[in-house]
Amino acid sequence: MTEHEHVRVAVIGSGFGGLGAAVRLRREGVTDFVVLERAGSVGGTWRDNSYPGCACDVPSHLYSFSFAPNPDWPRTFSGQEHIRAYLEHVADVFGLRSHLRFNSEVKMLRWDAQQLHWEIETASGTLTADLVVSATGPLSDPKIPDIPGIDTFTGEVFHSARWDHDYDLRGKRVAMIGTGASAIQIVPSIQPDVARLTLFQRTPPWVMPRVDRAIGPAERWLHRQLPFTTQARRGLLWGIRELQVQAFTKRPDQLGLVERLAKRNIARAIKDPALRAKLTPGYRIGCKRILLSNSYYPALARPNVDVVASGLARIDGSTLVGADGSEAEVDAIIFGTGFHVTDMPIAERVVGADGRTLAETWKDGMRSLRGATADGFPNWMTIIGPNTGLGNSSMILMIESQLNYLADYVRQLDVLGGRVALDPRPTAVDGWNHQVQERMKRTVWNTGGCNSWYLDANGRNTTIWPGTTTEFRNATRRVNLAEYDVLRAPEAPEAPAPGKSRTKKTVEAGA
Ligand code: NAP
Repeated sequence: MTEHEHVRVAVIGSGFGGLGAAVRLRREGVTDFVVLERAGSVGGTWRDNSYPGCACDVPSHLYSFSFAPNPDWPRTFSGQEHIRAYLEHVADVFGLRSHLRFNSEVKMLRWDAQQLHWEIETASGTLTADLVVSATGPLSDPKIPDIPGIDTFTGEVFHSARWDHDYDLRGKRVAMIGTGASAIQIVPSIQPDVARLTLFQRTPPWVMPRVDRAIGPAERWLHRQLPFTTQARRGLLWGIRELQVQAFTKRPDQLGLVERLAKRNIARAIKDPALRAKLTPGYRIGCKRILLSNSYYPALARPNVDVVASGLARIDGSTLVGADGSEAEVDAIIFGTGFHVTDMPIAERVVGADGRTLAETWKDGMRSLRGATADGFPNWMTIIGPNTGLGNSSMILMIESQLNYLADYVRQLDVLGGRVALDPRPTAVDGWNHQVQERMKRTVWNTGGCNSWYLDANGRNTTIWPGTTTEFRNATRRVNLAEYDVLRAPEAPEAPAPGKSRTKKTVEAGA
């Protein structure tokens, strides 16, 4: 017999989602929980992405928790280091440190249908939990395309989310692969230092000006003295985006006006007509994430930059060959090629009630009930689950709605009492997904004529929420028990009293 620690809730990940879940659990009076984190500090994607120029393109006062306003944001758009420091601060102020288990990557999660709990193998040991909150985030596992010949390259190679700060790019010939949100921040940051920069652009992004400025001492003082001014600022930022979303979800034709502004942004910085043509997208703005930058186009116009308007096809020693046949000799390759989003990596490690992994269950695409729970995976919930992403506003709003759902889930388990688990009914999951996909049909993400990371391998949009944040908040306010099967463990002599959590559990070794 092996004795494992048992907790009521195990949260996986300590980014915005995991830390938010931890704060919410404490507020619900749940203290018997751990936060399992694979790295040695909190911050999630804001810890891992430390590339030059890394910043958020959602304004700071909206890209933060409503329950932890920061009157001291130094800029309207925060840099990575400020967001990371904010999350460290949240961990301190809300007393989360004692719950954090660093260097505890989750290797396997198995549902035990007899005991009604999850058995969790981590890099630092095994434990069991009544409820698992998976907050691993969509931007946690870098994606590097399988480029033929990559093993023949002898220079430096890294991904934007795993920046090698020991490698000195000064004076080097560098290839940047990709033109997403990360790449457009990296390009202007490294261009002045490198000897030559070759940008492999498979699809040009739409880039709008970024209205960024320092928030002065007087403004910050006002926010500190009169906290409602911080709330009002946040409310305004939220309201504008809430109104804009209709154009993305229902009237993509209205986005033509924004497209004209974006074209003017290209024309302002790019005088060479051939380069301008390469950089002008051929799909509706908003279909891929709209990027914000004042420095990207000016950097591309510099003489030490080449734009190869095609993907990277193969590598031959130090020669990179584009799909259009163009060649570049380089010393270093930086992949800004994004993350495993629609194939949520943790899904490979979650084994549900019927012995299948979540990845197998989701082989035709991710699907869940209200972005949170999956049938056959009782008492398992994800933060930023399927169809909870946003194209134009702050993900923190969606995370907080999911935290409301988590809080009510825990309350419902308490009310039901005893050893109990909730498993969403397949009909409820089907109904929710049908509704989401019906609404998706008119959106710019599905009709805009692009191929984005919002779509999975089958072309189904499993990432974006096709509505307003208010609609999602309303849909996740309460857990509707009619959408769930209530599972109860067979009576066992050692069953705990209703509402009490077990702190230690004994199971068969290797079970
Ligand atoms: P991404 O948006 O997924 O972009 C990946 C880029 O790599 C795309 O341009 C893609 O081209 C390209 N690519 C993939 N394979 C390629 C190949 N074989 N050859 C050439 N190009 C290739 O990834 P990301 O830039 O890391 O951003 C991911 C998400 O992180 C963003 O959408 C955003 O949500 C978030 N983010 C936000 C910020 C911010 O707030 N400012 C900053 C960074 C990241 P295609 O377009 O043709 O597929």
